[in-house]
Amino acid sequence: MDDLIIIGAGPAGLTAAIYAARFKLKVRIFEKFSWGGQILLSPSIENYPGFPEGISTAELMDRFKKQVDSLGLPIENRNVINIEANSQGYGVKAESELFNTKTVIIASGAASKRLGVEGEEKFIGRGVSYCGTCDGPLFKGKDIAVIGGGDRAIEDAIFLSSYAKTLYLIHRRSEFRASGILVEKARRIKNIQFVLDSVAEEVCGSNRVESVSVRNLKNQTVSQILCQGVFIFVGITPNTEFVKGLLDRDESGFIITNQQMGTSKEGVFACGDCVKKSLYQVISACGEGAVAADSAHKYILNQ
Ligand code: NAP
Repeated sequence: MDDLIIIGAGPAGLTAAIYAARFKLKVRIFEKFSWGGQILLSPSIENYPGFPEGISTAELMDRFKKQVDSLGLPIENRNVINIEANSQGYGVKAESELFNTKTVIIASGAASKRLGVEGEEKFIGRGVSYCGTCDGPLFKGKDIAVIGGGDRAIEDAIFLSSYAKTLYLIHRRSEFRASGILVEKARRIKNIQFVLDSVAEEVCGSNRVESVSVRNLKNQTVSQILCQGVFIFVGITPNTEFVKGLLDRDESGFIITNQQMGTSKEGVFACGDCVKKSLYQVISACGEGAVAADSAHKYILNQ
């Protein structure tokens, strides 16, 4: 019987693990893909304190991982499909195996949202991508469209502009949700063309992406932007299907937590991008991970 099972090894889960290990809890960490979380989809991070010049996300997460390793905690590659309350606490089902634990921390993160336009699914891996860091080098000297106006879209547009001949930044408004400092940086880059008040309606091509059909929302004109790559950053959707029915979630599936990162079930805590909150950043995910581990520790002490 474990004290705590942490589901997810991104910034929130790894921070929870560091705190839990220091509380001397018997902990397991389960990760479905590979450790690091979706921050690794961004090339670098400029707003994590302690790194005034910014730091590559790969290096930052590598440091998190080394700290977890130094505490003797292995990260197990397991896909959790269900959690059920039982007489001892909770049974966490990972594929066909069942693990009993007193408490659970869900730090399962989120995935990139689909835009939902014609041609998007068809061209995934053939020009459509949700990760600049992974796929940017494939588009060296090519024209690229980036869709979205949040931090990810602007960060990735800046990164991808070093590969692109021309980078078209397509956003449905003329104001940006992304932080001003990023937008200013993007505006100074010569090969980024802003296509504002516009929505992509279709990704077009025969075998690979050849263009995006874009409607200007001010005058309703439709034009074709010729490009070979389309990078879509229109928000995130939480990885919480496996707790459907167990925990209270909002209409988009984000887990509802209190200030102690407690969920609607005693002994189950949640943190990071899978929870409903106002700020989705690495720094806040880490803070929530620390709080969740502290709450799990206190819950066990009180049992
Ligand atoms: P986001 O901040 O939710 O922004 C999504 C963008 O996509 C918005 O500009 C939105 O437009 C646009 N959009 C949404 N649906 C659309 C649609 N159907 N058609 C056209 N445009 C659409 O999402 P994100 O940039 O993917 O980032 C996800 C989260 O991670 C954010 O909370 C972000 O702050 C965070 N993040 C953190 C870091 C870090 O810790 N340093 C780095 C990157 C991202 P509107 O603005 O008009 O709604």
